[in-house]
Amino acid sequence: MIIVMKNNASEKSKNYVMNKLNEIGINYNITNIKDKLIICCTDYDKIKHGDISFLKRNKDVVNLIDISSSNKLVYKNENKLKTIINIDDVRIGADELVLIAGPCAVESKEQIKETAHFIKEHNAKILRGGIFKPRTSPYSFSGIGLKGLEYIKEACEETGLKNVCEVLDISDISAMKDYVDIFQVGTRNMYNYPLLKELGKRDKPVLLKRALSGSVEEWLMSAEYILLEGNHNVMLCERGIRTFNTYTRNTLDISVVPYIKTISHLPVIVDPSHAAGIHNLVPPLAMASVSAGADAVMIEVHSQPDKSLSDSEQTISLQEYAKISGQLLEIKKLLE
Ligand code: PEP
Ligand code: MN
Repeated sequence: MIIVMKNNASEKSKNYVMNKLNEIGINYNITNIKDKLIICCTDYDKIKHGDISFLKRNKDVVNLIDISSSNKLVYKNENKLKTIINIDDVRIGADELVLIAGPCAVESKEQIKETAHFIKEHNAKILRGGIFKPRTSPYSFSGIGLKGLEYIKEACEETGLKNVCEVLDISDISAMKDYVDIFQVGTRNMYNYPLLKELGKRDKPVLLKRALSGSVEEWLMSAEYILLEGNHNVMLCERGIRTFNTYTRNTLDISVVPYIKTISHLPVIVDPSHAAGIHNLVPPLAMASVSAGADAVMIEVHSQPDKSLSDSEQTISLQEYAKISGQLLEIKKLLE
């Protein structure tokens, strides 16, 4: 924290501030710049836990600058400008666009294999598909469970694709870890700190979705929970937030993509499917995401969208995916 005081403040006022800092045990250095007295404090923990409200009440203190963000792992700093997540030959956060596609849910072995082979032929590097579906209604299809892991594994072995799969509960991590390449934390679990901490102890990449009403700061601090435990392979996924609009399922916060990329070194992914909730809005939103600088785009696809057991309204067909995948790579090229 930097305390900026008026240089012409009375000695009494200056001494009061220094004495209070000494009392709390905060170390500081003092410099004079023009008409300002600059007090640089370095003890982040003491500043965080000490009562520094006296500074806010002091009329000679003209500014308090919080520089503690540079102390947090998710933010960019001079030594860490970019995180590139390598999963064998797939690089997320490098200069290439990574396409992730697949059904909302794994429904059968045939379904996931057919999808995997198709998307592999059309530029995708990662297969998506949930086995546990966190549905708004407890009466909706909630996934086929752990048996889906074998289907995903076979589909990936046959095609060479990597996969991403949502983990809902800490107790499933062990069963999933040998099948899954990226653990997805869904929007409803962004605040599930025990789950985040546990994934932080693992060595697998995590795709962290933004909560329905999650602020950027909350989202980044959820990522911080994972990084703090030692796992630095975290990608942030914007999937639409809840706003007053009801014409789409959620509102895609497109500006968050370039914004996060200015403050954080973590890769940013966009899921236009859950943002839109309407299949014909998915291609334009995917294109906007690439233009805005997304490192990867994750799209829900199905060989028969109308028969998809979950999220059928927002699911595009394999043919529609084939078309958009080429267009997205073209857009990426234009940005180079
Ligand atoms: C999903 O990706 O299938 C999913 C459930 O997403 P979200 O957590 O964004 O709703
Ligand atoms: Mn879905």
